[in-house]
Amino acid sequence: MITANIFNIQKFSIHDGPGIRTTVFFKGCPLKCMWCHNPESQESKNQILYNSEDCTLCGTCVKVCPENAIKIENNILTTDLKKCNFCGLCEIYCIQGVRQIVGKDYTLDQVVKEVLKDRVFYEKSNGGVTVSGGEPLIYIDFVEELFKKLKEENIHTAVDTSGAVNFEALERIAKYTDLFLYDIKLMDNEKHKKFIGSSNRLILENLIKLSKIHNNINIRMPIVEGVNATVDHIEKTMNFIEKLNVRKINLLPYHSIGKHKYSKLALDYREEEMSKPSEEKMQHFKAILESKGYEVKIGG
Ligand code: SF4
Ligand code: SF4
Repeated sequence: MITANIFNIQKFSIHDGPGIRTTVFFKGCPLKCMWCHNPESQESKNQILYNSEDCTLCGTCVKVCPENAIKIENNILTTDLKKCNFCGLCEIYCIQGVRQIVGKDYTLDQVVKEVLKDRVFYEKSNGGVTVSGGEPLIYIDFVEELFKKLKEENIHTAVDTSGAVNFEALERIAKYTDLFLYDIKLMDNEKHKKFIGSSNRLILENLIKLSKIHNNINIRMPIVEGVNATVDHIEKTMNFIEKLNVRKINLLPYHSIGKHKYSKLALDYREEEMSKPSEEKMQHFKAILESKGYEVKIGG
């Protein structure tokens, strides 16, 4: 049976394509963007978000855990993820609400059933279903079958992708996709490696190839002060996409909404290196792109 690890199925989404949508968030990503507001999306395996600050160390979770995976020693609670089977009992019994299991294996039928519940909203708003992540195309077999079924139901489909996958995955899903939301994060390859953890070469090559076989690609550009909020980055991106079959761009200003999740995952959040670009700067970038004929929106 085909399954995928999914960490959220978000209803009434309005930032991931046209109309009212359901966005399915797949767990796992080949990139590690420093500003990622869904850090729980990066690992493909299940995780536990744990807020130690609000934990009273009452010990209930230790008692209910069937795998003896949790222990409290010297007033510190730890969870052995090698023992944990992600049954979720500790989350259910924690009255402080400081534990959350992230990730669940879904079958194709479960996801289809869930997203079809809102088809009336898709029809009334010209909305549909978006797959996001993480990187949804690391589950290409699953996503391809999902989209085949959605197209049989005449539902609009969108893929929110980092582009950091084998081109074969993009080629396979393109047949069933109405809209691609394709991220360009950094044109400078050295900075890409520094802030994202890998080269941008595959991403850019894939965009060139994809634009030859698909005619509805929106570029999404996260703009982060301290990383890429420069005219140079905007111009380099513009020069790159100039010859491609791409006319729409979303500029996505950095925000720190996901910051609180980092400590819950015991990850560092390099806040001092990032900030939100000014509204004036965003408008300036928008004007530069519009002067070249692009349709530009600030936000999703
Ligand atoms: S049940 Fe919740 S509050 Fe109690 S020790 Fe476990 S995580 Fe902390
Ligand atoms: S999810 Fe289940 S197995 Fe894992 S720590 Fe919680 S209670 Fe134990």
